[in-house]
Amino acid sequence: MPLIIICGIPSSGKTTRAKQVTQYFLNRFSSQEKAGTVHLINDESLGITKDSYRDTRVEEKKARASLMSAVERLVSKEDIVIADGMNYIKGYRYQLYCIARAVGTPHCVIYCGTPIEIAREWNSNRGEEGYEATIFDELVSRFEEPDDRNRWDSPLFTVLWDDPAPSYDGIWDAIIVKRAKPPNLST
Ligand code: ADP
Ligand code: MG
Repeated sequence: MPLIIICGIPSSGKTTRAKQVTQYFLNRFSSQEKAGTVHLINDESLGITKDSYRDTRVEEKKARASLMSAVERLVSKEDIVIADGMNYIKGYRYQLYCIARAVGTPHCVIYCGTPIEIAREWNSNRGEEGYEATIFDELVSRFEEPDDRNRWDSPLFTVLWDDPAPSYDGIWDAIIVKRAKPPNLST
């Protein structure tokens, strides 16, 4: 089943939102409306530490490659895959989208639109668990905001920092209901 791509700057609430969406889908699946499983892929599940982001040339590339290959392995028509990472490079989101398209399954993007100053505060509240200030700033400066005029960033669901939850119904409709329609290969 479909691929959900999460994106956002460090400590913008991505994993928190990914867990909310996972719970929502699991509840909806168990209410018998539809059968399905959810695979949540993130640094924690892949065993990637925050230190990987210190070395942008080698370690961070490895981290990205490992998320990409987990998505490749798990995306199928049966299960939901949530790629919970920064996914901050446009070309990287494009590649994730291509994986979903290749298996003929829909995708969507959830963008954690948390202002930098708020994410910075959440990051520092994490203490040891957070990103170092210089790494935080560097990752923020490299972030390429999603734009739903690009087919790989669409449909795009932006969740603001003070929203209680992402748009669950919109996401369900976009990737589960839409699935019944044949893919449009020309786009
Ligand atoms: P990310 O996965 O983007 O790095 P997390 O979801 O791990 O972000 O959240 C980063 C920190 O911010 C965590 O300590 C989390 O508890 C806190 N946090 C996340 N969302 C909120 C929120 N809506 N309000 C307050 N704190 C939050
Ligand atoms: Mg996270």
